Amino acid sequence: MQLFSQKADSVVIHNIFTEALSDYSAYDNLKDLCKNIGGRIGGSSKSIDAIYWAKKTLENIGADTVYLQETKVRSWKRGSKERCKITKSAFGKYDLTVCALGGSIGTGKKGIKARVIEVKNFDELKKLGKAKVEGKIVFFNRPTQTTSYSTFPAYGNTANQRVWGASQAAKYGGIASLSRSLTLTDHNFPHTGIMHYNDSISKVPAFAISTTGADLLSKLLKSDSTLELYLKSGCYENEDTTSYNVIADLKGSEFPDEIIVVGAHIDAWDNGQGAHDDGAGVVQAMEVLRIFKYLNLKPRHTIRVVEYIDEEMAQRGARKYAEIVKNKSEKHIAAIESDCGGFTPQGFSYEAGNNVTKRLEQWKPLLIEYGLWLYPQGHSGVDVGFLEEQNIPLFGLMTDSQRYFEYQHASTDVFEAVNKRELKLGAAAMAALVYLIDIYGF
Ligand SMILES: [Zn+2]
Repeated sequence: MQLFSQKADSVVIHNIFTEALSDYSAYDNLKDLCKNIGGRIGGSSKSIDAIYWAKKTLENIGADTVYLQETKVRSWKRGSKERCKITKSAFGKYDLTVCALGGSIGTGKKGIKARVIEVKNFDELKKLGKAKVEGKIVFFNRPTQTTSYSTFPAYGNTANQRVWGASQAAKYGGIASLSRSLTLTDHNFPHTGIMHYNDSISKVPAFAISTTGADLLSKLLKSDSTLELYLKSGCYENEDTTSYNVIADLKGSEFPDEIIVVGAHIDAWDNGQGAHDDGAGVVQAMEVLRIFKYLNLKPRHTIRVVEYIDEEMAQRGARKYAEIVKNKSEKHIAAIESDCGGFTPQGFSYEAGNNVTKRLEQWKPLLIEYGLWLYPQGHSGVDVGFLEEQNIPLFGLMTDSQRYFEYQHASTDVFEAVNKRELKLGAAAMAALVYLIDIYGF
């Protein structure tokens, strides 16, 4: 084991941040991905474009090996633009802004016209029962709100109305679900995201409505519970199709068979450009490799970038990656993920034992001056999470979460929503952590 030399390490970490902040690669790469490819849900031709773009970009950075790892993915298509209109009410007709949820079936060409029943949660729906719900559109209108510093718990607390709303509605005879968007922001942009069907319950179409649309609909329903709503979507799902994770290695000089993974997911919802979710993470992971190359920091262990496919739909990419690590008995020292947007980094959450906790305590003084002060034990990331059963220390880059849900899964998630410096700081934070893990291990 090497001695813990904070002085030498602080110089290297300073150089990492200086290089990240003075170079434009990460920001330019994000612009390229967002503007020239854009939304890229797994199974789409754009996701394949993104995969080949990532492969080429990593080759240009100078990785020793870059390859594609094959996996099957779902192939869900949004189809024609969704529509939602109040067709009959005491106050006239209104168009409302909605989008179909990922994985939903479509309404058919004619669409659906029905009365609406509003609930806040599944218990309320159960109490109303079939008598009140049958034949209606079920409107789940529980706001995403939090008083905690992080906004992620709020998302977690309301996600079930998006994910399981349609099956719950159908259970009591509802003919579609319309869920309030999972965002803390009052705006007229619907937020999509995955939904699932319960196999034992019939499938009905699932929609998300913008928060301002939800407020208006709720207000109108209070005065006119007989109002009628028209919903139309054209989604459908093809057979599973072939796709790929993109993997790039910078070979370790002492332990080439021992790997430190830094990654993100390359797929993104089709309604935006996937800038914060998760284009930022994709280019930050690439930037870690570039910084090591540029500063000539010859890593002792292999640094591996993994750009996972299909995080948003079924995480088939991450599952495949973990399966192959296991089958090949590849030794992984750590796996780091960036999937909390390109906002100011604040630290790393981690899933690991006390040895890692002790190391982080030692490293904290080196990182805190760059704003990296949060190190909670717990969730790390969705994609790296599949490596948990192999007892690999897992880390998630934590960012300032205040604005994340303004953009996540919405058409607002575009390149312009990402701040250049914040994006670069996130890349530098990951490079610094990779550097420390590479030198000291756990
Ligand atoms: Zn994501």
